[in-house]
Amino acid sequence: MKKYIGLEDMSHVNCSSVLHIIRSHGEISRKQIAELTGLSWGGMTKIVNKLFEKEYITEEKDSAFTGSGRIPKIIRINEKKHFVVGTDINRSGLRACVTDLSGNKKQEYFEENCYKNKNELLDRIIQLFEKIFRDFPGDTIQTAVIAMQGKMNAQKGISIHFPGCADWRDVPITDILKKRFQIDVQLEHDPDCILFSESGKKKGNLLLFRIDQSVGMAVSIDGKPLKGTGILEVAHTLVIPNGKPCECGLSGCLEAYVRPCINHGKINKQMVGEMIYPLAVTIFNMTSVFHADAVILTGDLISFHSLFEKKLITELQKLTGNKKIELTFTDDVKKAVKGAALIAAEQAINAIRL
Ligand SMILES: [Zn+2]
Repeated sequence: MKKYIGLEDMSHVNCSSVLHIIRSHGEISRKQIAELTGLSWGGMTKIVNKLFEKEYITEEKDSAFTGSGRIPKIIRINEKKHFVVGTDINRSGLRACVTDLSGNKKQEYFEENCYKNKNELLDRIIQLFEKIFRDFPGDTIQTAVIAMQGKMNAQKGISIHFPGCADWRDVPITDILKKRFQIDVQLEHDPDCILFSESGKKKGNLLLFRIDQSVGMAVSIDGKPLKGTGILEVAHTLVIPNGKPCECGLSGCLEAYVRPCINHGKINKQMVGEMIYPLAVTIFNMTSVFHADAVILTGDLISFHSLFEKKLITELQKLTGNKKIELTFTDDVKKAVKGAALIAAEQAINAIRL
């Protein structure tokens, strides 16, 4: 059935879904858009014309066309307008990436992260944004997503705690940046962003563990991130009852085995050895809970994965038996920022008002 819409029905939902379709196809004709959306020709035309007028898309004659008659036109996302920014704020560095709505990179930023207290860290973040807005002035950038380490309330945009910054408590980071730069800002857990950069490539349910001084976890269910404040806190789940004492007061938490593996940037091989079984138990339990058969491992400890990869796979196999779990080790430090930019592009398209 055709969905007939008048101008008054040119809701942002329709505009966003048309733009999503153009983005996922890369290039597309008006005819295909009408077919794929089920919009009437008139409805599609109104939306496409408006998207063109507001410079979200470009439309050009198909240079590859060799047939006779009228040369068909091809619609693409405009690569010169409407940019978004993804940032990754973590203990060791500040990264940012500006992309167009298709995710094409325009510029990348990296700075070491040195701070003694909350004010210094906040200054660093603001300086990074100032730099970006000097390079992309005016309203070129409308949406930013910040991937951040530490505890947070992502929905409220509050960073509750940041590793290594004692007086960083309940910082309304999105409000601060929104006011200062007049853009939409969204806060995300960095494991969610890393997972988002990967979830397009894999089907089914996917888990991610970011392992450094602690363990962060993210879950995607059929390509959609699982969200909720205070969930997936895997670091203090009990893996070895009455095991090693943990900083949280319990004994035998996963974190108690992970934390001593790296000390001041140096790897402790004995501690790594003791961490393998608890990690295998965690992976086994979580893949069972979330019915996942693929797991991504990332974070500082994973850059030493050659030390424990084989043993971890063996331990995991002992637990899982015939069930196969695909483990991917990745130490690509740019994944969080890439995922943040992709989420920002999605957000920008969802928020479109014509
Ligand atoms: Zn604990």
